[in-house]
Amino acid sequence: MADEPLLSVRNLETKFHTDEGVVRAVDGVSFDVRRGETVCLVGESGSGKTVTGESLTRLVRSPPGEVAGGEIYFDGRDVLDMSDAELRDLRGGRVGHIFQNPQGALNPVYPVGWQIVEAIRLHEEVPKAEARARAVDLLNRVGIPEATRRFDDYPHEFSGGMKQRVAIAMALATNPALLVADEPTTALDVTIQNQILRLLEELQEEFDMSVLLITHDLGVVAEVADRVVVVYAGKVMERGDVFDVFENPSHPYTRALLRCLPGRGGRLDGIDGRLPSATDPPPGCRFHPRCDHAVDACRTGGQPPLYALSDDHDVSCVHYGPDGDPEVVRGDESAGSAVGPGDGGHVGDDAHVGDGGHDPDGESGDGGNEP
Ligand code: SF4
Repeated sequence: MADEPLLSVRNLETKFHTDEGVVRAVDGVSFDVRRGETVCLVGESGSGKTVTGESLTRLVRSPPGEVAGGEIYFDGRDVLDMSDAELRDLRGGRVGHIFQNPQGALNPVYPVGWQIVEAIRLHEEVPKAEARARAVDLLNRVGIPEATRRFDDYPHEFSGGMKQRVAIAMALATNPALLVADEPTTALDVTIQNQILRLLEELQEEFDMSVLLITHDLGVVAEVADRVVVVYAGKVMERGDVFDVFENPSHPYTRALLRCLPGRGGRLDGIDGRLPSATDPPPGCRFHPRCDHAVDACRTGGQPPLYALSDDHDVSCVHYGPDGDPEVVRGDESAGSAVGPGDGGHVGDDAHVGDGGHDPDGESGDGGNEP
């Protein structure tokens, strides 16, 4: 149905069985991606963003990983119930992935054009000549100069930014309905980063795609997101329309992230403290050891349920809801409005949040925080 979200994730749980114990990298994460929109998953390194993206098409390697619970519906189909053949068809078919390091997506001993041809013919029965023409067209569309000539070049003959463009062309080769882009610009310099973000925006419109962009960079979120999901230690802290979240940031973690942006009066080197242990997280709110507003209720039980501030803005914090007092949080210094979504306030490298996290990308916990 047209008004159904393209992607619906409910109480997703992804675990890793390690020698140190069970890492619950994603622990009850829920969000939707609607048709044609860009949703950003944002949080520090180690917060569970990447594992969430990989779980969507069950790319998590098993063992040691497993998608242990929850629901993932893509275009009305239950991803967790798909056969291996259906999953292969989904990945690189209707769901494209772009990763931080384009090198990993490209075969170093195979010309880039033929890699795109192969990606097309893996999912569609089209003659080689037609696939080749489409590959050249895609290389053109992503801004590779002299695409026909460069079709036969190898990955090492491209710069980092151009390699990422080729990786984007590969991800688009099958006209995906959803593009999952995991830190696609982090390895690139600021100028190239902006070019790639602009390109993704243009292609999203042209291909009528939805995009799930995974990033630690709130400057990127401000540039491209329609909606944002703030994750911390495998849990959703706040989610909503990007204007609501930037104008009215409600979770102390979101507010701390925003204060890291230039022009917001805070430090640029991140938030004090570290993510909690991946295998032994604290009870109560996962953020409480770093939170200036923590009270006794934050230190027991599970993560506070997500409380709906509006139709499209939820927050997981004890200071909201019928018995809470949001002023406890909002009464602190303003998270500021110097940089907001859509105002061209991209802040490049300085906008990233502190990287005090653990690897692997996720933590553990005690159940989801869906109400
Ligand atoms: S629930 Fe408590 S610890 Fe968590 S963000 Fe709110 S005030 Fe801070």
